[in-house]
Amino acid sequence: MRPTRARIELARLRANAALAAEKAPDSRLMAVLKADGYGHGAVAVAQALAATADAFAVATLDEAVTLREAGIRQPVLLLEGPFEPSELEEIQARELTVTITGPEQLAWVEAARLRGPVACWLKLDTGMHRLGLDPARAREAWERLDASANADLQAACTHFARAEELDRPETGRQLERFLAATRDLPLALSAANSPAVLARPETHLDWIRPGYLLYGDTPLPREHPAGAGLAAVMQFESAVIAVREIPAGDAVGYGGSWVAERPSRIATIAAGYGDGYPRTTANGTPVLVKGRRAPLAGRVSMDMLTVDVTDLPPVQVGDPVRLWGDDLPVGEVARGSGTTGYELLAGMPARTPRVYT
Ligand SMILES: *Cc1c(COP(=O)(O)O)cnc(C)c1O
Repeated sequence: MRPTRARIELARLRANAALAAEKAPDSRLMAVLKADGYGHGAVAVAQALAATADAFAVATLDEAVTLREAGIRQPVLLLEGPFEPSELEEIQARELTVTITGPEQLAWVEAARLRGPVACWLKLDTGMHRLGLDPARAREAWERLDASANADLQAACTHFARAEELDRPETGRQLERFLAATRDLPLALSAANSPAVLARPETHLDWIRPGYLLYGDTPLPREHPAGAGLAAVMQFESAVIAVREIPAGDAVGYGGSWVAERPSRIATIAAGYGDGYPRTTANGTPVLVKGRRAPLAGRVSMDMLTVDVTDLPPVQVGDPVRLWGDDLPVGEVARGSGTTGYELLAGMPARTPRVYT
């Protein structure tokens, strides 16, 4: 059997969620499960967190329905709101919570013909400029939703654009705008994503909304102590399927992007971009072979990649390999392809088996 798999350690997911809850003892915890639980399997994640999380958040109605059909009873928030008015009927019937992300969604809720009120969160655009109403219209929106029999408005929320950049002023300004706009409204408040949960306690408010940190990597600069204690949930594992010696001057892989500077030993690993390891990863990015770091050598293929194991103790076919996980955070691997761990996790393809332990 091909040795490539994403082993998911659910006990660690619970421990990471408990750590987030400890950082924000006065807040409720909404666990963000969009993109199939950041590639870990949204249903498995929701089931594992059923006792820890007070609510869940997803991006689409399909994702929310999948959770309901798996028996998840907690509130489930649709972070991007309804995409069209026709979704509201099912949102209400499934007892999901919808985000009012702009004037259109506000009007859709008012005009809908529903069997009962739909739970709503009101999103305010405090500076990210992606979704949300103008904070100056928060009171008017609250009044309209309060007057509508279709809406049960429960909370106001906003989202930070640069919360992980701890020395910058934007997050503080966003928080100020949010608090000013909601000051007199009888609503629960929510702003904190993972970096804010870890390092900005003043943003915790009534509901924290961590995603990335639950999966066990820090979104902060790696040396920042607030990220300590998180444990990688996904172990992206494979194995060595070939080993060869090559002379100095020979190139490895498509396009000859890596050339041996000395006689070298090359190990071939049964994982490639078809399994979720980015093709754009730079030569030299670490791969763990039998627990030791070896540099990627040569372009990543669809089903395989190659590493330079010249400096490792003898490597054999069948030796275990970790592409990311313990001792090799996904965020560090992501830097080798100019992206973040978020993208690598969310992009894990269905071909890579998820094995739950
Ligand atoms: C994705 C998302 C989150 C979670 O962000 P993380 O950085 O993964 O913690 C929170 N709120 C909203 C609106 C989001 O889209």
